[in-house]
Amino acid sequence: MALRTILTDDDPALRKRSREVTNFDRRLHTLLDDLAETLEDANGAGLAAPQVGVLRRVFVVNIDGLIELVNPRIACSDGEQEGSEGCLSIPGKLGFVTRPDHVTLEAQDRHGKTFTVEGEGLLARAFCHELDHLNGILYTDIMDRFLTVEEIAELEKEE
Ligand code: ZN
Repeated sequence: MALRTILTDDDPALRKRSREVTNFDRRLHTLLDDLAETLEDANGAGLAAPQVGVLRRVFVVNIDGLIELVNPRIACSDGEQEGSEGCLSIPGKLGFVTRPDHVTLEAQDRHGKTFTVEGEGLLARAFCHELDHLNGILYTDIMDRFLTVEEIAELEKEE
């Protein structure tokens, strides 16, 4: 396993559409292991392959435990939540983003087996955020606005 460099801001890789995974081989497993390690090191909630320069439809989320998703798609989504959201590729900033409150994803695991996973609240938000990365979309494209420095300081006080 190895830490990978997280691309930031205007890196063109963040704006590309990632391709489907077709080989569930050791290379994919290494990518998934590296994503998990890099995510943990960065103390984040989710990390998508294009954020480390690999244009494949793969992401990991770690909120209540690590979930690896390969070729994910939204099977259903409902509800609405408003809240603040950050991104490891946009350091030091947070934005207000409206997302579905409940999302069910269909995806494959590292061996190619299909499964479904449900997320509510923060997990649903993370699923949508990471899925957007696979299509070259950043939260800044769909946010209402950035939080002010004062608002960020207020949030940090609550934690
Ligand atoms: Zn992100």
